[in-house]
Amino acid sequence: MPESLSGTGIGQGVAYGPVARMAPPPAPPKDSSSELTPEEESARVKEAIDVVAAELARRGETAGGQAQEVLEAQVMMAQDPTLFEAVTERVNAGKTGEFAVHSAFSEFQDTLQMLGGYLGERASDLADVALRVIAHLRGEPAPGVPDPGHPYVLVAQDLAPADTALLDLAKVQALVTIEGGPTSHTAILARGKGITAVVGVKGADHLSDGEQVIVDAASSEVILKPTEEQVEAAQRRIDARAAAAAAPITDGALADGTAVPLLANLGTPEAAEEALALGAEGVGLFRTEFLFLSSEKAPSVAAQREAYIKLLKAFPGKKVVVRALDAGADKPLPFLNDAEEENPALGLRGLRALLANEEILRDQLTALAEAEAETDADLWVMAPMVSTVEEAEAFTKFATEHGLKTAGVMIEVPSSALMADKILPATGFASIGTNDLTQYTMAADRLLGSVAGLQDPWHPAVLRLIREVGAAGAATGKPVGVCGEAAADPLLAVVLVGLGVNTLSMAPAALADVRLELSKHTTEQAEALAAAALSASTAAEARQAALEAAGR
Ligand code: PEP
Ligand code: MG
Repeated sequence: MPESLSGTGIGQGVAYGPVARMAPPPAPPKDSSSELTPEEESARVKEAIDVVAAELARRGETAGGQAQEVLEAQVMMAQDPTLFEAVTERVNAGKTGEFAVHSAFSEFQDTLQMLGGYLGERASDLADVALRVIAHLRGEPAPGVPDPGHPYVLVAQDLAPADTALLDLAKVQALVTIEGGPTSHTAILARGKGITAVVGVKGADHLSDGEQVIVDAASSEVILKPTEEQVEAAQRRIDARAAAAAAPITDGALADGTAVPLLANLGTPEAAEEALALGAEGVGLFRTEFLFLSSEKAPSVAAQREAYIKLLKAFPGKKVVVRALDAGADKPLPFLNDAEEENPALGLRGLRALLANEEILRDQLTALAEAEAETDADLWVMAPMVSTVEEAEAFTKFATEHGLKTAGVMIEVPSSALMADKILPATGFASIGTNDLTQYTMAADRLLGSVAGLQDPWHPAVLRLIREVGAAGAATGKPVGVCGEAAADPLLAVVLVGLGVNTLSMAPAALADVRLELSKHTTEQAEALAAAALSASTAAEARQAALEAAGR
């Protein structure tokens, strides 16, 4: 029996509590005949539907708000008489309750999907109801996020973004997933909500309900059967982090006073309030595609202008970097991407897709320029997935023609990092997207748990590319930021500054930890940490070398 399990830690948190596992979805029932009478089968199904509906209603009441609306809609679906009739028909034909539910619900799901739009989106909610009813009929635990009625450590194969978004933070002390990498969107959401998480933990499937564990995101470990000393040490760290979070908020700076502005990564204007409360000095990455992920058609100038005005108004006098639509691969937009591409990560995505659909780019830049004219924020715009000097020139020209004063590019592809000394003179600034830069440097899909070990921005190959961009920034006098998840790792943030990065942008929940770590190092020390990490041979050695250079 190992003493701990390892994976990839998200954030710097540590937590302690009993495990509650997320039950996997039940296997689909086989087409088989029932040994019970149709009346008995119908009664079983009716009882199961009532129990499931009552449980969903209870969860809705506890959750409140938007979650309650979703859950109440599910209750209505579960109790739909037409649906029950379809189940009864199958039961009367001698089928088991499980199969009758599976078959009738699937038929309704297909109809909803065919209708498309809002109703189409409800198909997965109906599938969830069916799975719950089938699980109850079999006497298995309900699939989905458990609710043991006390604080717990959630252990799951992986979480759908919707599950993560609905997690009750008062109850879920930490998250452990068997799959998933550090830049999967589940990890990004967990970081966004400040949930202590370790993802990609092989062996976590052997954990059982009620077992006490320590989840240590900073060391990427799940400690099994912890000793009293280990629990006390974890509690001291929990208290210290709470104190750091409660400390007065200052602007980001090194110990020698060198300013390192700390900015926020946002996906909606509504997220601005929390970012400001946590001390964001502006926005380093506004992911505009998050606003339009479910749109079939390109958004209008008016709809975009409204969203951008809302965002910019929240940051008067402050820098706000808005990224042009980054469509493709992990963030497909039907109106910009071709669903038939075999390899979308290497396809017509990011700026490539915008240049192939110029009117969509023009509309976005028009909306941004109009929003800027109505507000006092310092608006910067940048292009995603730039891979050549020509692309950097083309985007900068488009932005300038639309009256936008500061245009720049994201460096997320090794070619643009290597060519940064030629790209920066062609544009206003660079922002390094370490999530994609790591994916493309290591040839490891950022969403794939099986290659998560390679998805590590500490890898010296990634650090060497960042050094190129930092050096080009210093030589040209153009600002260089980092807006990938690497900026949210406190020690790596210091290394990035040592490599010549001027600003760091991250999920607001990470600001306090990064602010504290920066304040412990001078510029000279940050450069020493960077040199130590650069000279390593592996990601693990780079991290270790930086820790040693920091005297830890
Ligand atoms: C990145 O790739 O690092 C980045 C910041 O962009 P996204 O995660 O939205 O692809
Ligand atoms: Mg990216």
